[in-house]
Amino acid sequence: MDFELSEEHKLLRKTTRKFAEEVIRPAAQEYDESAKYPYEIVEQAKKLDLIAPALPVEYGGAGMDFLAQAIVIEELFRGDAGIGSAISARPFGSDMLLEFGTDAQKKKYLLPVGRGDWVMGSAITEPEAGSDVASMKTRAEKKGSEYVINGAKMFITNGTIANFLIVFARTTMNPPERHMGITAFVVESDRKGYIAEPLKKKMGIRASDLAEITLKDVRVPEENIIGQLDMGFYQLMQFFGRGRVAIGAQAVGIAQGAFDEAFKYAQERQTFGRPIVDFQAIQFKLADMATDIEAARLLTYKGAWLVSQGGNPAREASMAKLFASRVAREVANEALQIHGGYGYIKEYPVERFYRDAKITELYEGTSEIQRLIIIRSLLGKI
Ligand SMILES: Cc1cc2nc3c(=O)[nH]c(=O)nc-3n(C[C@H](O)[C@H](O)[C@H](O)COP(=O)(O)OP(=O)(O)OC[C@H]3O[C@@H](n4cnc5c(N)ncnc54)[C@H](O)[C@@H]3O)c2cc1C
Repeated sequence: MDFELSEEHKLLRKTTRKFAEEVIRPAAQEYDESAKYPYEIVEQAKKLDLIAPALPVEYGGAGMDFLAQAIVIEELFRGDAGIGSAISARPFGSDMLLEFGTDAQKKKYLLPVGRGDWVMGSAITEPEAGSDVASMKTRAEKKGSEYVINGAKMFITNGTIANFLIVFARTTMNPPERHMGITAFVVESDRKGYIAEPLKKKMGIRASDLAEITLKDVRVPEENIIGQLDMGFYQLMQFFGRGRVAIGAQAVGIAQGAFDEAFKYAQERQTFGRPIVDFQAIQFKLADMATDIEAARLLTYKGAWLVSQGGNPAREASMAKLFASRVAREVANEALQIHGGYGYIKEYPVERFYRDAKITELYEGTSEIQRLIIIRSLLGKI
């Protein structure tokens, strides 16, 4: 792989970085404290075409490759993970619609999302089914030409603000294989029986919307099925690689943002008559942090590049996510340590990076699940 970015990628990085520094970072503390969704900043991101970098132009996206998407995510999260998430998760699940949606579905749902006018989300997790996706209990029963959906979904990004969600529900009970019998549906949030309960009290990425969703006799027409009946789990698995590379990019951005703060602070803060960056203990910390970030970035870019080549790199994506998320947590921790007691109060952004970093080890599959995928891949089982 050639690690030199193209001129197009470099320009995109420069534009996104400028936006993150000038617009996102100054607003980060306010949105973190209020846990409000940053509508005004999203409007500005829309003008710069940063909402859906890799979605084709015909569906309102910027028509770039997946490496471009990773670069945008990294730079947004370097500015602030909460606002970065609010912007970059607006098309969450659009890959599924692009690949398996009918032309009519793409025109109706994907286009307004790509343009940045609509928000979508993906509802997979349930109160009792997280890592074990196939154990989901939400049911969709066929009644005439409609499906009636009942169940509960937990931790749904964009759940209270989305125009629609892709909801995964069981359509066949007791299938011959436990991963079968799950189907993906478009469920518009204005349908009767769609109830969103906001989850505001989260540790980090607080500007990002999160909800618990109850679906009570929600009726959707048959044409809201995405792809094939009963094959939703397998359809979903095709996109986890992309999603995990994206989380790798989030983690690299958070780690870099925390590093920037620590690097600056270490040159300003004086103890024993010298800036603390003069002490070798601090120098070695910074050197290790910079090295880890660069390694995480290269793994993530490799995953993104493989996706851009048209692949679904399960192993590389899991490696990128596993490694980059650990680096984000450890670098944020060291960055806070370099700030001493000042790192522990909210006037300094570093404590926010510390809280935000943790999510990257949890969603799109926990670190334990990434390890399971990596070892299964090494053993030739997937
Ligand atoms: C902020 C946020 C946003 C989210 N957004 C979405 C979203 O938009 N859509 C969506 O569907 N979900 C979303 N999620 C849910 C997220 O993907 C799940 O929380 C995650 O997959 C873990 O599931 P769980 O919480 O049920 O943990 P569990 O599956 O209950 O796991 C608990 C612990 O056990 C470990 N574990 C489980 N099974 C194994 C095993 N076989 N071997 C070893 N260890 C194991 C896990 O790693 C973890 O440490 C979000 C979560 C958060 C916090």
